[in-house]
Amino acid sequence: MRFDILTIFPGLFSSFLSHGILGRSIERGLIDIRLVNIRDFTDDPHRSTDDKPYGGGAGMVMTPGPVFRALDAVKRESENSSVILLSPQGKRFDQSLAWKLAGFDQLILICGRYEGVDERIRLGYADMEISIGDYILNGGETGAMVIIEAVSRLVPGVLGTDKSSKEDTFENGLLKYPQYTRPKVFNGMHVPDVLLSGDHERIRIWRRTESIKKTCRNRPDLIKKADLTKEDLLILKRQKDLASVLDADKND
Ligand code: SAM
Repeated sequence: MRFDILTIFPGLFSSFLSHGILGRSIERGLIDIRLVNIRDFTDDPHRSTDDKPYGGGAGMVMTPGPVFRALDAVKRESENSSVILLSPQGKRFDQSLAWKLAGFDQLILICGRYEGVDERIRLGYADMEISIGDYILNGGETGAMVIIEAVSRLVPGVLGTDKSSKEDTFENGLLKYPQYTRPKVFNGMHVPDVLLSGDHERIRIWRRTESIKKTCRNRPDLIKKADLTKEDLLILKRQKDLASVLDADKND
């Protein structure tokens, strides 16, 4: 899978792209990342990429010319590519959108800066406008990093086994169960006995129960949408402290 990142700060990505799972995936050729410096496509001696907003107001706006020229220069590897404008006004990014994006062969990410980008960049080029959350960042670069990490994890071969991403939080509509490793006792806190029992069925039920409990406590909105089995509903009924969450759900 290929990502082309259009930015005025390509240097921000060097450390991000050279560590951990992503760094290894790039080395192994599973992920191909190209950095495109928008400033290389300016046509004035100051290499400016911003200008004052028409109509007045605070701050500067990213000009369309250099971004259009940079986009023209990016090679479309296949028909199956998409141009994404990072923007707090876009569709909110989540795991299901990550899966949708993982279906493309190439994603071209435009990182805005300043008070935002000239609207003609969105109108003329963007297939999608994506926000990574309801808050304002200084630029689209951190948003691009979020998308690259989340989507790369879904590319076959990037994670050691397919299983590791299937058991992730959100994959089955629930938050993941608590996890423990050695030592058995740490600072007076014990690993739950069931995890040491070797009884796979008991472990499975404990994990599912903890997963449901945590989702009810931290993200009741997800429980509503989750594809719960008969067993899950039984688990829910047994957890008295969760009843109020479900009642609150019903009243929504
Ligand atoms: N003034 C703009 C507004 O109110 O919508 C915000 C501009 S922000 C300071 C500059 C750039 O950061 C945006 O053009 C966008 O590329 C990026 N950005 C900021 N917040 C973002 C978010 N939540 N998701 C994705 N990109 C974001």
